[in-house]
Amino acid sequence: MSKILVTQSSMPSYEEYCEEIKELFDTKWLTNNGKKHNLLEEKLCDYLGVNNISLFCNGHMALYSALKFLNLKGEVITTPFTFASTTHAIVENGLTPVFCDINQEDYTIDANKIEDLITDKTCAIVAVHVYGNPCNVEKIEDIAKKHNLKVIYDAAHAFGVKYNGIPIANFGDISMFSFHATKVYNTIEGGALAYSNKEWYQNFGELKNFGIVDEEHVSNIGINAKMNEFQAAMGLCNLRHINEEIAKRKKVYEKYIELLKDAKGIKLNILKENVEKNYAYFPIIIEDEYGLTRDQLYEKLAENDIFTRKYFYPLVSDYDCYNKQYDSTLTPIAKDIANRVLTLPMYANLSLEDVEKICNIIKKQ
Ligand SMILES: *Cc1c(COP(=O)(O)O)cnc(C)c1O
Repeated sequence: MSKILVTQSSMPSYEEYCEEIKELFDTKWLTNNGKKHNLLEEKLCDYLGVNNISLFCNGHMALYSALKFLNLKGEVITTPFTFASTTHAIVENGLTPVFCDINQEDYTIDANKIEDLITDKTCAIVAVHVYGNPCNVEKIEDIAKKHNLKVIYDAAHAFGVKYNGIPIANFGDISMFSFHATKVYNTIEGGALAYSNKEWYQNFGELKNFGIVDEEHVSNIGINAKMNEFQAAMGLCNLRHINEEIAKRKKVYEKYIELLKDAKGIKLNILKENVEKNYAYFPIIIEDEYGLTRDQLYEKLAENDIFTRKYFYPLVSDYDCYNKQYDSTLTPIAKDIANRVLTLPMYANLSLEDVEKICNIIKKQ
């Protein structure tokens, strides 16, 4: 019996990738705004429905760069229910994260609790479209306008998502996408910033290349966070198949819903009607009446060679590296969800038979 992992990277055929990288062996131009890189930026602007895209070596460096570029100081209101990257990028920029609780429905930041956390030091809101669920973008925009705050979205999970028909990257000042191997769309490692101000393209171009303007001028203490041509080539190939990949994920998602919707003690994350989804993850919440705890179910599935993830557990605010600086009991819903959530295997090539097998184990106790 073969193992079922929580995810599997999408890849083109070996032949398609070889064809795509062939000319690199002639041009010998491997990075620094190469042809593939530039073409991918154009194609992603189209696909993601935004005016400007800057590519990066990964999503984390993109997010780090966005915060650095905005030259923020002070406190940032954010969510503890996220991946390490979101909070680390804030802290690495010398900013103080202030954790806001999440809502029960879609696990994104609870916009109704943001204003209580605003102080005269607050400079921005960094929110996460968790599992591809759009945040309460209207409310966040209202708050940001009222208090003159920047809004940066961690859209690492939200590639291709639309809200009321509007592509997700059109909300906030800057959105970050991750193209890590485990995401819906990948460039092996990679990431991007999407934004509406065209002039920022040059700024991000400099920032990700050591702050170099030209041969004799370095304007900024920048970093090295460029996407190379082999990554961009993978991105061009994967973009050709993205609609098909998402359609296959949809079938997996629907099968899970069909089989688990009546399962006792299992709460599903049913996505909203006005959201065009990407089916990035399949989180379930294990309620008390299920009988087993989340950790027991995790173990039981693992014994059957099915590998799920406690994503996101622990809360970022409970990480060892943050040395108990934050009190996670102040975000009780996030804490509770983190203790109960399990993300089930989800990828385009997951067979519906495997979905059945997984659901049977979950239901049979
Ligand atoms: C994957 C991810 C990131 C980081 O992206 P990388 O490309 O892996 O650096 C940031 N935030 C969230 C929520 C993620 O899931």
